[in-house]
Amino acid sequence: MDRVIIIGTGVFGLSTVDHILRRSPTTLLTIISQPSRLAPSDDFSKIVRVDYPTSERMTEALKTQEQWNNSNFSKFQHRIGRIIIFEPDDTPTLEKINKAREEHGLERRQPSDSTLMRDTFGKTVTPEHLTYVLAPDDSIVDWKACMCDARERAKKACTDNGGIFYESGVATIVKDGAQIVALILEDGERIETKGAQIVLAVGPWLAQVLAASGITLPPNGRTPVATGLFSYAVQLNDEQVELFRNKPMVTHGGKGRTHSLYYIFLVSNSLLTRYASRTEARFRDGVTETQDPIIARHPDFQNLVCAAGGSFNRAKDLPTIGSIVTDVLSGQYVSDRYSWEPETRYSHRDHSHLVAKGDFATMEEEAQQDGQNSATDHFSLAVI
Ligand SMILES: Cc1cc2nc3c(=O)[nH]c(=O)nc-3n(C[C@H](O)[C@H](O)[C@H](O)COP(=O)(O)OP(=O)(O)OC[C@H]3O[C@@H](n4cnc5c(N)ncnc54)[C@H](O)[C@@H]3O)c2cc1C
Repeated sequence: MDRVIIIGTGVFGLSTVDHILRRSPTTLLTIISQPSRLAPSDDFSKIVRVDYPTSERMTEALKTQEQWNNSNFSKFQHRIGRIIIFEPDDTPTLEKINKAREEHGLERRQPSDSTLMRDTFGKTVTPEHLTYVLAPDDSIVDWKACMCDARERAKKACTDNGGIFYESGVATIVKDGAQIVALILEDGERIETKGAQIVLAVGPWLAQVLAASGITLPPNGRTPVATGLFSYAVQLNDEQVELFRNKPMVTHGGKGRTHSLYYIFLVSNSLLTRYASRTEARFRDGVTETQDPIIARHPDFQNLVCAAGGSFNRAKDLPTIGSIVTDVLSGQYVSDRYSWEPETRYSHRDHSHLVAKGDFATMEEEAQQDGQNSATDHFSLAVI
């Protein structure tokens, strides 16, 4: 790992920088950073949780949670807990989570009814037919600050070692035989790459960059597909600010009648701000079929490693995922499920319903119906 070029400063790229420097502090780094308002790593908050229905993913999540609790990352996280809402047809997921928890020697998550919401938030309108589960160890990350810190750290490490931090994007990758020989930036600048290893960590843009360069894409199912999600801040009045202060987050996996949108309600003591206006953002993540990222050397090019495919659940891996990329760079063993073309057909899907049915109009309609059905003296939580 004498010289490594990282393309993309999202979760995968930045974590890779941290881990390369930990293992090989004298590596000459070149970093090409072009943040985007569409990039999932440029969101403003993220959840750290350990509950996954597969044991392997839970092992990783526990390792990463340990880092969020006991390393420099801890200053960005707030352990406020989370209430997770399960639809009646999604309780098998809870059972799988509990099985995985038992395998790891953790206590089972206890299913509860809507009284959990009433006990937590006071007067609320919460559907009776759903299952409510409290995960008190989940945390929310002050994500913007965390990413700014990670980018500054990467920039400093890069320039301290004599490398260059480019604030630009890669337009195309130039190949010659089995080698990548240069990168052409969007402003036309050419970066020679002979003798360097390249990490292509451009998230949902992976297919676009490879295709623009005439480079073969990963096989079907392994190419991260750009999948969109809306995210928005709501303006709270003073009474609502007080109501939510020190309360857990609430998430709802979005199935059944209300499965038009994956819907997250994030509130925390320190992140609780009153927004001047309702702001709306669109983010996309690269989703692979099994929802496992691809972290693998390109079979046609010895010096090109692809690292992408967050599938809406890899922000929490910021402290750890770069270790796997660094394993690939240094030729060490990496689990088959990250490979270019896994030998086994895995089923690690965490979000069973990633493709939304409906749009904001559908949601408005549902909200209006909910409003008509609600007693007016109740404060209705935005959890559908
Ligand atoms: C709305 C939303 C909420 C989420 N919530 C959570 C959560 O609570 N917890 C959790 O664990 N995960 C969550 N995720 C998932 C998580 O955010 C992603 O898995 C993770 O950020 C993916 O990181 P990445 O580095 O692969 O991709 P990106 O964030 O896309 O990073 C790639 C970077 O490369 C840049 N780039 C693109 N093209 C080029 C180019 N040609 N040249 C140079 N740079 C380029 C992009 O602009 C970007 O900065 C969420 C995702 C979304 C969309």
